[in-house]
Amino acid sequence: MPLLTVKTEGGIAVVTLDNPPVNALSHGVRQGLWDMVERLDADPEVRAVVLTCAGRTFIAGADVREFGKPPEPPHLPDLVARIEAAEKPWVAAIHGSALGGGFEIALGCRFRVALEGASVGLPEVNLGIIPGASGTVRTPRLAGVEAAVQLVASGKPVTAAKGLEMGLLDAVLSGDLTAEATVFACTALKTPLPAAVSARPVAPMSDAFWAEARKVAAKPGHQAPLRALDCLRAASERPFEEAMAQERATFLELRGSEEAAALRHVFFAERAAPRPAALAGVEPRPVAKAGVIGGGTMGAGIAAACRAAGLPVVLIERDGEAVARGLANIDRVFAGAVKRGKLTEAGRAEKMAGVTGTTDYAQLADCDLVIEAVFEEIGVKRAVFAQLAAHCRPDAVLATNTSYLDPRAIAEELPHPERFIGLHFFSPAHIMKLLEIVPTSDTAPEVLATAFALAKRLGKMPVRAGICEGFIGNRILRRYRAEAEALVASGVAIAEIDAAMRGFGLKMGPFEAQDLGGLDIAFLQREGARAAGQEVPETLGDILVRASRKGQKTGGGWYDYVEGDRKPRVSPQVAELLAGRIAAAREMAREEIAEQLVGAMAAEGQAILDEGIADGPAEIDLVEIHGYGFPRWKGGPMHHAARAAALRAA
Ligand code: NAD
Repeated sequence: MPLLTVKTEGGIAVVTLDNPPVNALSHGVRQGLWDMVERLDADPEVRAVVLTCAGRTFIAGADVREFGKPPEPPHLPDLVARIEAAEKPWVAAIHGSALGGGFEIALGCRFRVALEGASVGLPEVNLGIIPGASGTVRTPRLAGVEAAVQLVASGKPVTAAKGLEMGLLDAVLSGDLTAEATVFACTALKTPLPAAVSARPVAPMSDAFWAEARKVAAKPGHQAPLRALDCLRAASERPFEEAMAQERATFLELRGSEEAAALRHVFFAERAAPRPAALAGVEPRPVAKAGVIGGGTMGAGIAAACRAAGLPVVLIERDGEAVARGLANIDRVFAGAVKRGKLTEAGRAEKMAGVTGTTDYAQLADCDLVIEAVFEEIGVKRAVFAQLAAHCRPDAVLATNTSYLDPRAIAEELPHPERFIGLHFFSPAHIMKLLEIVPTSDTAPEVLATAFALAKRLGKMPVRAGICEGFIGNRILRRYRAEAEALVASGVAIAEIDAAMRGFGLKMGPFEAQDLGGLDIAFLQREGARAAGQEVPETLGDILVRASRKGQKTGGGWYDYVEGDRKPRVSPQVAELLAGRIAAAREMAREEIAEQLVGAMAAEGQAILDEGIADGPAEIDLVEIHGYGFPRWKGGPMHHAARAAALRAA
């Protein structure tokens, strides 16, 4: 199949690009489009050109196979300019999505029309770069600075309807896109053509506007959004050619940056994660109905996630009262979605109508998958699995959401152990993307494949984890917290450590995060281990919990809190309680603090790899990014530590 075909009728040439799977702008596509402009300009029969794409989408962006490599001519900015300079006006006819370079091609066209349901966007900042082919320069000329800032600095695509409202599109069409776009082109030829986008005027904005835009876009250590704003500002204040030169220079500089390398690493890791090589050719079992045991924090979130993905759910609780509480917990999730405008009241009712709350395990008889999320106690969990064994089909997948128990101990007496697996969701389970999938040595490959298929259906990021205490994520978390405590013990101020990690890009540092979540859960675990005869040294956190400082909920943990205010305040009582365990106060640069803590995470990650608990360093990075708020523009602890080591060696 040729990449480009053309069919001319009634003076309108319809050019169809067919470069599966997403019509990416490979070198061949760029050259083909360039040649097509020349050819159609020379064709006296042609009066206008409609550019459409075959398959599921318009040009969805650059060719990922060319990422990080020097591109060959024709370069994209030149191609966009060439399309714009064509004698015959081009109409971009967009379905699916026009992203990045795809939207920039559309910017070179004289008109942009899109099918209902399509989306357009400039997501380059998500890869640590900026649009490199006039996205920052033509977009403000097309739709004004505010719309351009919204599109470019957030990297978030907008729907066709929104794009029309913002002035990014000339029309939203329905029905047969090619036919409708052809009609659009014929009509457009009847009136004088609008100016090429590059020739349109743009109104500059005030200093206050730019200050606010920077505030909204700023994320510690993430430079691409701010550099994009610099280019947008230049585009609104300087001549077209100068702004283009600044955009190009910025694009080239960022393309070679650490940030872009980190984001490319995450991009490829995310693409690979849902399809582990070990499962090639293994068919998942069909899942049409799910059961959830326990309607507390996790069970309710898991049930809501299953419902949101369209699965009917049976929720089992201990007694009638707990059933009612569980259902209310699930409903609260959907009520929140209504409040945020993501769901209608009718949608909420429909979601809840698909949940059956009961104490009767017999209701699970036709469930294809059951996820247990009851108290973290081995006896309680074993009793639940005995009930599941009695009432579920032998081919139904049975999963536990345990955080720290050994899944093998939970399933010890389960008949058909090949159907059993750990599915470790993160709180809140309807929001957090990470799903650690924990097979035992008995788990059948198709059960593992079913878990990966479920993750995809629920919109989760699946990572296989082997069995060890805390699996991948919580094990690294423990090491990270221990390292942070070690820094405190060595005299570094608690608030300095938190500030260092915020400066690194996390939303919260280790101590403020513990205050929010509560110090008691980890404490009880350590106490449990001590009671079982394990040697677990007394941590600084233990001292605080013993003094009833369990975090925000008790008015204090690592910090003090004033009622009704979540702002952490340095605590004289903590200083007193820990006095005997802390060395004289010392200064440490924040970058150094962050490097030490991330280094500890990576060291634990390496131990996890050496033990075969994770499949590769990229999977560990995904766990930290999707489960623990590690900044994706740092690539994850494994990527970050490897780059830091390489830079030190260079
Ligand atoms: P939770 O206390 O909020 O909820 C537990 C629910 O289980 C309660 O509603 C309780 O009534 C119900 N329950 C207890 N025994 C039952 C039984 N025999 N039959 C039916 N229902 C029963 O606890 P949670 O935070 O939702 O944790 C549940 C599980 O998820 C635990 O294994 C925990 O380790 C794990 N987990 C928790 C988190 C988290 O952040 N909270 C994260 C990941 C995993």
